[in-house]
Amino acid sequence: MIDMHPILLLVDEQQLVHKGVRKMLADAPDIEIHSCLEGLKAVATAEHLGPTVILQDINMPDINGLELLAEYRSHPAIAEVPVIMLSGTSNVEVKADAFQRGADDYIVKMPHPIELIARIRHHSRAYVDHLEREAALKALQQEKTKLAAANLELERLSSQDGLTGIANRRYFDMAFDREWRRAMRETEPLSLIMCDVDFFKQYNDSYGHQAGDECLKLVASSLAEAMHRPTDLVARYGGEEFVIVLPGTHARGAIKIAEHIRQTVLDLQLPHESSTVHDCVTISLGAATVAPMVKHHANELLLSADKALYSAKEAGRNQVICSGM
Ligand code: GH3
Ligand code: MG
Ligand code: MG
Repeated sequence: MIDMHPILLLVDEQQLVHKGVRKMLADAPDIEIHSCLEGLKAVATAEHLGPTVILQDINMPDINGLELLAEYRSHPAIAEVPVIMLSGTSNVEVKADAFQRGADDYIVKMPHPIELIARIRHHSRAYVDHLEREAALKALQQEKTKLAAANLELERLSSQDGLTGIANRRYFDMAFDREWRRAMRETEPLSLIMCDVDFFKQYNDSYGHQAGDECLKLVASSLAEAMHRPTDLVARYGGEEFVIVLPGTHARGAIKIAEHIRQTVLDLQLPHESSTVHDCVTISLGAATVAPMVKHHANELLLSADKALYSAKEAGRNQVICSGM
């Protein structure tokens, strides 16, 4: 809430008018009066002062009062300040012209003090109300922007795996469901690859849990980097297991990608002394593909890829096995 009393800027080139107005407003101590005796300086004075209402002579020797009105309107800081024209004539055409050019009120010299005070207070209050609404709207917009940014960050955090920075299980569940439904709708193939680090328990035992974490980060980034299409998704399925969703990809393509990934992880050349398949970190992969039809359930594809992964482990690890559905 802006606590603002009326701040009046009186623009008139006659000293006598200033004296008269001040006298008329003597009974209204809440109105702060500022005088401008040169029409040519009115815009600069108003910009500097920040009045809540301007009372201005329509006819000044140095400047046309209506042109001065247009000047106020073209300066953003004072464009909305209410302007009461003070005029010697009650000619309706002059009045209408003043309103047409943006005057907020028109008073014929010299009004009754009670009327002048009432009009000054009325316009000032309307302007302060307007300022308050603008400030509230601005604050609301700032809050909205902040909230949108916070929501975006929250969304990012809730879908990201804390350790590796790739998508987490929650995001995978959502994305897999979406891709499954899309594949069904468009009768497109959908492939899934499950990957699991070989002898990772032993890796932790040999090098420590922290080194294990670093290893998982490196494996995760190499999986992510190995993806080609923007729709391909790598997620951490849990522990040392990763899952890859490949929309629009046939079994042959999935096997090629799985083999490429297996090689990429091997190329990291991360020493693994307690592994019995290799002296470096390796992964086993199970791939499964489906051209979705109603008779299948998304879970079947997952199970199928998991079964293939199990077979790859059984068959000696550090290899890809593809299972049919
Ligand atoms: P296999 O070749 O059959 O997959 O053997 P494995 O040892 O990799 O499999 P197992 O399931 O027996 O052990 C998985 C290990 O992964 C056990 C667990 O401590 C470790 N692990 C799971 N999540 C994390 C993690 O976030 N950080 C670290 N450092 N280790 C993890
Ligand atoms: Mg495992
Ligand atoms: Mg493992």
